[in-house]
Amino acid sequence: MSKITFSCVGKTVEAEDGTWMYDVCDDAGSGIPFACKAGACGTCATEVKSGGENLGTPGARELRTLETKGLDPARYRLPCLADVHGDVVFGASAGAAESGASLAIHDVVVESYRPLNLTVAEIRFYVESDGFAFRPGQYMILHAPGGEQVVRRSYSISTPPSDRQHFEICVRAVSGGLGSNFVHRLRPGDRLKVEGPYGDFVLNEESRRSILMVATGTGMSPIKSMLLHLLDTRSRRKVRLFFGLRSDADLFYTDLLRGLSAHYPEFGHEIILSAPDPTRWAGPRGRVTDLITNRLDPRDAASTEAYICGGRDMIECSRQLLLEKGMPASSIYHENFY
Ligand SMILES: Cc1cc2nc3c(=O)[nH]c(=O)nc-3n(C[C@H](O)[C@H](O)[C@H](O)COP(=O)(O)OP(=O)(O)OC[C@H]3O[C@@H](n4cnc5c(N)ncnc54)[C@H](O)[C@@H]3O)c2cc1C
Repeated sequence: MSKITFSCVGKTVEAEDGTWMYDVCDDAGSGIPFACKAGACGTCATEVKSGGENLGTPGARELRTLETKGLDPARYRLPCLADVHGDVVFGASAGAAESGASLAIHDVVVESYRPLNLTVAEIRFYVESDGFAFRPGQYMILHAPGGEQVVRRSYSISTPPSDRQHFEICVRAVSGGLGSNFVHRLRPGDRLKVEGPYGDFVLNEESRRSILMVATGTGMSPIKSMLLHLLDTRSRRKVRLFFGLRSDADLFYTDLLRGLSAHYPEFGHEIILSAPDPTRWAGPRGRVTDLITNRLDPRDAASTEAYICGGRDMIECSRQLLLEKGMPASSIYHENFY
């Protein structure tokens, strides 16, 4: 047995060697946030105060994720990639430190549930207590009852931070998925616990550069929060959104985007469908990455920053295309949902 200490919450637990560190953190109520649990998102990056050698040598994926988040691998590790092999003392979680959150858990009440299409729904929550501050692009972790253990799933906030007392999420029901189907069963009046805000996929408000947003599916959620915030703050930055969906049955937020274009002269958007019914869709057909290839002028790439959200393959492909067009890597921000 090894001793695993979580100094932030003042807890030490004993764990059998070979146990997945995620299970130890979760069972102990460590407060360390997890999302992908596969070393890709970096959400669980946590300072290691001692016993780092017992976590083994960081592999290429861990090094890449820590580097992307600007964290020193000699100080931070990803517990989701580790098994227990000796005593470890964990310090502060980088996600909580970056967001300024002190691992806050909030009680919320569902105010509304609105289907946006057959598989995607928008849920609005009222935050009891004094509400909380967040930055456009951040996400919350919802606690869903899952048998003996609470199931924790990350969902991006889709509303702007001007309202501290409410937030909305936009969730696709995944077949057989515990978290997303729990969310789809929520109805007005239901109460639950949420944690956060978390994440460093946030709008760079100090920049004056043009913005390119690329989203697929519910990847629109944090992008919508950013867009509404830009509108709230009367930003004059030029914003273009490329939004990719599969078919015309998957369309959502089309009225909202049309309305934004009317109110925000610097905003333009294009929706592309990969498998539309040709009798119902006259717009562009293909992948969202085709819009990057065909619409982004390399002369604009250096003066633009990009925010990309959706699945990992789309993000990787978009990043490559943007780099080839001449956009600096430091201007490309992304959030992997899966
Ligand atoms: C930072 C972050 C923010 C996120 N924000 C959102 C959001 O705003 N809206 C949203 O809908 N989702 C979002 N997600 C994804 C979300 O956290 C869950 O992963 C998703 O809802 C599936 O959880 P589940 O419990 O229903 O499925 P699980 O029980 O975890 O998985 C069930 C099965 O579905 C597969 N699967 C899991 N996720 C997906 C997926 N997205 N698409 C296809 N197959 C999948 C799994 O491989 C598994 O086979 C976010 C993820 C991260 C990391």
